[in-house]
Amino acid sequence: MMKEKGLEVVYREEISQDEFDKVYADYEAVIVRSNVKVRPVRGRGNLRLIVRAGVGLDNVDVSGFTKLGVKVLNTPGAVTRAVAELTVGLMISLARDIPRLATDLKSGRWSKAQAHGVELAGKTIGVIGCGRIGREVARLARAFGMRVLVNDLIEIPRDFLQEIGGHQVDLETLLKESDFVSVHVPLDPSTKNLIGEKQLRLMKRTSYLINTSRGDVVNEEALKRALTEGWIAGAALDVFSKEPPDDTELLRHPRLIPTPHMGAQTAEAQRAAGVEAARLVIEELSTRPA
Ligand code: NAD
Repeated sequence: MMKEKGLEVVYREEISQDEFDKVYADYEAVIVRSNVKVRPVRGRGNLRLIVRAGVGLDNVDVSGFTKLGVKVLNTPGAVTRAVAELTVGLMISLARDIPRLATDLKSGRWSKAQAHGVELAGKTIGVIGCGRIGREVARLARAFGMRVLVNDLIEIPRDFLQEIGGHQVDLETLLKESDFVSVHVPLDPSTKNLIGEKQLRLMKRTSYLINTSRGDVVNEEALKRALTEGWIAGAALDVFSKEPPDDTELLRHPRLIPTPHMGAQTAEAQRAAGVEAARLVIEELSTRPA
């Protein structure tokens, strides 16, 4: 797509942080995912545009580059459905204990008698952060017959709440009333450790936490205690404060389902993010530099 428009394209499957820091300023535009930090260590150079193919901009020094006159864009809509579907998958996996029972059977154990699942229908889901992904999760949860509570800093439009038959509540009410709490906020200083000991202790002992947003939104030390001491029934994490994570106590906890930050890893989402990123680069580079 970009080559057809006459742009010279250099594609790198893998690049080290050191090498990226050395070369980024040679290009007019860079498209990145989340595997390198993009910081203005060599100033702006030729750079006019940075596109993060995906949502989270926490690996890009947005204010640093903006001050230098470099545009920073992302492709937020492309991965919404993929992350929402993973979230539902994790909810069902928690509700039915699918990973453990599957592992048992692969090891020769028929654990049918230990399968004590619950159904999603009739349960309450609490969606923290009701933006693109949170809303899609809410819609899917509604289709499963769940009651939906949402929490957000902004007022959620009434027609959306009507569509999902949901209610906007404060965080404390959401935590106390939900059977599944799913986090979909961006990571920023105000959401770091948004879910810590105090919040986990407010949740029901039978409830589950799902985090597919960013690792640092949930305090992992508090979560380990919550799982071990039974403040909540279980959790699923797609994201970790350090990735790949090395906290084996957390990863191997029997009440945790960990996944390797795979929320956006569908063929459809990756393609859509790539196409949108290329479109943004073509649009920017077809205009004269500012
Ligand atoms: P979005 O910007 O559309 O929605 C975020 C919502 O959170 C907004 O409505 C905002 O008002 C709300 N919010 C912000 N601070 C809040 C707070 N303190 N309390 C309550 N609500 C708050 O973002 P999105 O596209 O829905 O993405 C949500 C998260 O998912 C981001 O953290 C993103 O990094 C993450 N994500 C993860 C994956 C993955 O692979 N697991 C992929 C894409 C995005």
